[in-house]
Amino acid sequence: MNKFELKSLLDDGALGTPAGRIVRMLTERGAMSAAQLSRLTGLAKSTVSTAVAELRRTGMVLEAGNEPAGGVGRPATALTLNPGAGTCIGILIGQTEIQLIVADVTHTVLADKIVVMEDGYTPAMAADLIRRLVAEAYETQWQSPSGLLGVGVAMGGPVNPVNGQVLRAGGMPDWAGVDMKELLGPLFEGVPIFCDNESNCSAIAEMTWGAAQGFDDFVVYTLDLGVGGAIVSGGRVLRGVAGGAGEFGHVVIDPNGPLCRCGNRGCIEVYASFRNLLPEAEAHFGRPLRITDVVEMALGGDNYCRLLVERAGEAGGHGLGLIGSVFNPPLVVVSGRLARTGDLLLDALARSYERYTLVKHNDVPDSARTIFRTSTFTDGACLGAVGLVLRHHGRLVGQAA
Ligand SMILES: [Zn+2]
Repeated sequence: MNKFELKSLLDDGALGTPAGRIVRMLTERGAMSAAQLSRLTGLAKSTVSTAVAELRRTGMVLEAGNEPAGGVGRPATALTLNPGAGTCIGILIGQTEIQLIVADVTHTVLADKIVVMEDGYTPAMAADLIRRLVAEAYETQWQSPSGLLGVGVAMGGPVNPVNGQVLRAGGMPDWAGVDMKELLGPLFEGVPIFCDNESNCSAIAEMTWGAAQGFDDFVVYTLDLGVGGAIVSGGRVLRGVAGGAGEFGHVVIDPNGPLCRCGNRGCIEVYASFRNLLPEAEAHFGRPLRITDVVEMALGGDNYCRLLVERAGEAGGHGLGLIGSVFNPPLVVVSGRLARTGDLLLDALARSYERYTLVKHNDVPDSARTIFRTSTFTDGACLGAVGLVLRHHGRLVGQAA
């Protein structure tokens, strides 16, 4: 076995071969039995068996140990990729920090570093820091960077999926127009780079490691100082032609409503984000507050803060009801700092969702009802950037591989 072999199996071109499909499935989802591999790849059991035998002979696939088969009978043997087969890097380029995670192909995190950045840091500063963090991470782990299979980047703003340029970047205006291939290509020569925005990366983290494991279709709905989200369909995150899919906060619910920071009026975000509710709380308590202060007070039983969270949930549920009528998702993962209030937010959100969406809870059997869950990760974007590589999502077009 060698890493170049794995790299070629992971490439799109190898998808058609049974070995390629098996390796891709193990990379995406982690350890599983031969029976699960057969079901998820659609390959016949005998084909899986032959291909797995060959992959085991080369050392690329190992037995992970025994796992219960989910019923009576012999436990099924879980198959896993050889952790030595290669590493992936995830990088978060956020408004206030840069984070770097190194993980192996079995989804195990080997290194995780985070550096707080000053407001308005430049792309050149980011590139210098990333170069240093990568060198440090590999030095500490005694790993060779030559086994690097790919680099995933979670960007604090939308990225054009065609040319890899950062679009009008919300809180990072200095980054608009930056070409991620030009910025990071020289740091990682010959290594594929994958890039998507933070929300989409967070969705990949939930799908791979968190609240959405086992779901191929779901919606992430983020309630924080802004409102955002992501749409996952058939195990893939929808990006849209310009990288703008899943921007739920800017669905207009009242064209005559208050002005939104995006320039339109009456966006979901105007009503459901905490941007407008936080000043109310500050006026009430007579001191500056952060979202986390309100969350803590609400969890501690403060009635005023509980009502404020419920209001955000109700307004958020209105917007989510519209999204539900479009997608009718089996699962909604609610993320953002407000999600830390758990059922307090979820109950208000689900009640309001029920009022505004088309398919009502009691119209359908249990198995067809939308499930609401809070996210597993408060900051999953960087882990999701590793997931970009593992799931082969968002590879920058035109980058020399
Ligand atoms: Zn807006």
